[in-house]
Amino acid sequence: MARRAAERVAMTVLLSREALAARRDVAAGPLASLADSLRRDLEPLLGAGPPWIPSEKARMTRVGGRCPAHGVLLDFDPQSPRAHRCPTCGAIYHDDVHYRWWIMNYQLWLAERAVHASVLYAVGDDARGATLARDILLGYCASYAGYPDRDNVLGPTRPFFSTYLESIWLLQLTTALDLLESRDGRSALGDEVRARILRPSAALIASYDEGMSNRQVYNNAALAAAGALLGDESLVHRALDAPSGLRAHFAQGLLADGTWYEGENYHLFAHRGLWYGVVIAEAMGRHLEEEALHRFHEAFAAPFATALPDFTFPSRRDSQYKVSLRQWRMAESCELGLARTGDPRLTSALAELYRADIAPGDSGRDRSTAESERNVPPVQLTRASLGWKSLLFAPASLPTLSGRLPSSAHLAGQGLAVMRRDSARVYAALDYGESGGGHGHPDRLNLWLVVGESRILEDVGTGSYVDPTLHWYRSTLAHNAPLVDGRSQWRAAGELLAYDERDGAGLVSAAATIAPGVRVERTVVVMPTYVVDEVRWSADRIVTFDLPWHVDADFAEGGRWRSASLGGGRGVEDGYDFLSISEYAVGLGASVLAATVDTLLVRAWTSVDVPHEWWRCVAPGPPGEGRRRFLILRARARAGCVRSVWSWGGDLADCTFDDDRLVITLGDDQRHEHVRARGAWRVSRFVGAARSTVDLAFALGNGDQEQRRGPVAGVRDDPVAGVRDDPVAGVRDDPAASASDGDVRPYTRLPVMQALPSVLGTLVNDDATRGAAENHTARKEGRTVREGGSAARFQLGAEHYRRSEERWIDAGAPEATVAVAATPETVAVEIAVRKSQPTFAPRREVNELDNEDSDINSDGVQLHLGAAHGGGRYYTWLLVPEVGSSRVRVTPRGAFGPAASVTATWRLTTDGYVVRALIPRSTFGDNSATDFTLDVIVNQISPDRERRRGQLVLSGGFDEWTYLRGDRQDPSRALSFLVDDV
Ligand SMILES: [Zn+2]
Ligand SMILES: [Zn+2]
Repeated sequence: MARRAAERVAMTVLLSREALAARRDVAAGPLASLADSLRRDLEPLLGAGPPWIPSEKARMTRVGGRCPAHGVLLDFDPQSPRAHRCPTCGAIYHDDVHYRWWIMNYQLWLAERAVHASVLYAVGDDARGATLARDILLGYCASYAGYPDRDNVLGPTRPFFSTYLESIWLLQLTTALDLLESRDGRSALGDEVRARILRPSAALIASYDEGMSNRQVYNNAALAAAGALLGDESLVHRALDAPSGLRAHFAQGLLADGTWYEGENYHLFAHRGLWYGVVIAEAMGRHLEEEALHRFHEAFAAPFATALPDFTFPSRRDSQYKVSLRQWRMAESCELGLARTGDPRLTSALAELYRADIAPGDSGRDRSTAESERNVPPVQLTRASLGWKSLLFAPASLPTLSGRLPSSAHLAGQGLAVMRRDSARVYAALDYGESGGGHGHPDRLNLWLVVGESRILEDVGTGSYVDPTLHWYRSTLAHNAPLVDGRSQWRAAGELLAYDERDGAGLVSAAATIAPGVRVERTVVVMPTYVVDEVRWSADRIVTFDLPWHVDADFAEGGRWRSASLGGGRGVEDGYDFLSISEYAVGLGASVLAATVDTLLVRAWTSVDVPHEWWRCVAPGPPGEGRRRFLILRARARAGCVRSVWSWGGDLADCTFDDDRLVITLGDDQRHEHVRARGAWRVSRFVGAARSTVDLAFALGNGDQEQRRGPVAGVRDDPVAGVRDDPVAGVRDDPAASASDGDVRPYTRLPVMQALPSVLGTLVNDDATRGAAENHTARKEGRTVREGGSAARFQLGAEHYRRSEERWIDAGAPEATVAVAATPETVAVEIAVRKSQPTFAPRREVNELDNEDSDINSDGVQLHLGAAHGGGRYYTWLLVPEVGSSRVRVTPRGAFGPAASVTATWRLTTDGYVVRALIPRSTFGDNSATDFTLDVIVNQISPDRERRRGQLVLSGGFDEWTYLRGDRQDPSRALSFLVDDV
């Protein structure tokens, strides 16, 4: 029946045969220059015989593909597998790690070449193109099964290390085959590609679900395309209608304003993937909801709404820094959108993209790696610069292109308000809303101010995922956003209080709960030549309030800096560890600051209503640039207000601050008065004796009001918060967060033992320690606990397994017993692992694979200990037995709280190994503390692997995957224990 459905459709995956036939005239007529240009790109491959296909799978490592001196990506040259050039220093590298990284790009590039070749055949009868496409497909038929599905970084895959890359690759091959068959009909080649690539690859992709991640967009697109070609309705259904299918992505991933929730560069990537989904669904005659299509169409124009004056996109969240929108892919996106909607915003975007006064250059299209883009410096674009999709879908001819100045924009779904002044040369923005999932930064209420090319205040995005500065870029301190008590903000969305824009005056006001019990409101009023910034906080306790401004400013007069060191959080993403030089100056209530940004003179009048100090520190600048100095205002109070007026035009003469009034004196006998009142922010402009007034709608927030939003559950410790290596990583929902939400776990009681049995392995043994442990609570939760003994014992098996490529049963059905016991001074944790050939990693100074501790890729144990009450303490230790001794290598990871240590010993057993760890009870509180939380994770590896195979997790496996979890574990999942001191 499924097969019949496909035959009934009788059209290609992307468009009907009739539509395809109609494109022949377009490709020979108005878009002939594009067809010629694509053919020129392919020329080195056409007639050159079957292209070479690497026998190794792609491999991701810390150094692979990057210049060791500069950290920048090495050039990708598809003709040069073994010599890789640094674009910064010109050095050529020949190391194998670079080759293995290059393979990823090459496989995507080659698969996309098959599409180019088959498109030229389908619309232009290019016989050499047909031969090339067939050769590529046959080559992969022969090689696909030979790539091992092992040692992956992010999901199962054979040729790659992440599932979504295989999805992009499969999408290309499916499209290529489909276009060939549109001319030739089905042949033996088609049967072979279906059997040897489409079927197995789609099954592998379907085994992994990445929820609301941008990556799942491509998994869906690949499943829809393969499902259509295989006539497999279940795959198509999965791609379109599953809880993480296309429809769900339109409902939850793409926000109502047409922006993808993960930020600008993920928007561009995800939207290209959604395009496939929509086009395939439409070709198959599937109905998509009007709202879904509305969002999809808005998304074509969305990137231009927030573009900076230099036509780059704002590098919010994990975005790359200063990437120009002038890329051939952007022009293609506008063309594809225009063909669907005729949206005049796209016409003006194309007018900008096709400007003739831009220098010509290398667009990089001939080296493009399918949908996994590499951005290049801006060059002149024409319709001949577009890609293969345009040959099939772009309008035959364009309307007259006329540019329009970009206007102010409020993206309510994203929570980003952009106000423009002075013919769009001035750009002020408040980034307050959506927290952005795994790629979000704790930067709610971040302020932007850009004038022309001068970036006075901005967000610099994220540099390399494999460089330690990643943690700086992911701190609140790296933003122009408030934080308290030296800790980065909670991951929580902010809320809009007011947005109004009229008569050259505009106001945006928003609030966010940035820490437990701490609410901050930020109001920004944007005038033609200055910006008013007001930040108010109120807390349920006295807090240390820090407001960074990333501008190298000094006092215009007076003020004296003294060297001192600035205290702050020690968390890896609190940012304070990245500060080098720091100086402070006493705050005097009101100060005037001055800075030169590029050549622009900037002044800021400031007023703070509580005692405060100014700090000047040096920290990493934008990615790829040097360190630079910036300002922090620090106050210590339960509530306060920081007001500032930023001026760049030189016309501001003075500013005076009253309680709710601000008077600004400008040259030429002009004066502005701002009055903040309930319901309105009144701006009165006086020119000589004349006066004009505008009331901007303004809802005064109530600082003492109960916080309306808590943090997003589990996000701070979401495994993907530590995603380091993957440019498009990010899982939106922690699948198990809901399992622990609002669920108060019962305690497991531990009768106190006066002394521990000395023999290692006694605690996990059934009969040795008789006692009266009340383990029924644990049993009620479905965990297996053996009766009897003072130690609480847990059997870990299939339900506790967190897999990588293999399921529990295929991974050798690993099992372990965990015993927990307490004495008056100590908590003992004994772990007996049943495993025939334990493989313990030797001590390694550097993990060449990624930013994680290398001991996660070993047989061994992770302990996650917390204080059950107050949540103030949390410790993680990695334990790996050292072969040839009874020593266990203990590596402390992620400690919150006073210094603490664990001692451990181990020995081999007849069926595996046993480890005993001793933790002083003072670790989880003072001497009388009796309760703590504990999670135990047993890592598993095999001798033929370089990354771990799976984990046994005491708190449960929840059918999860090990990928990207490093040594992190959501503390809220840990089991609770109570020591019964007699
Ligand atoms: Zn270099
Ligand atoms: Zn950021």
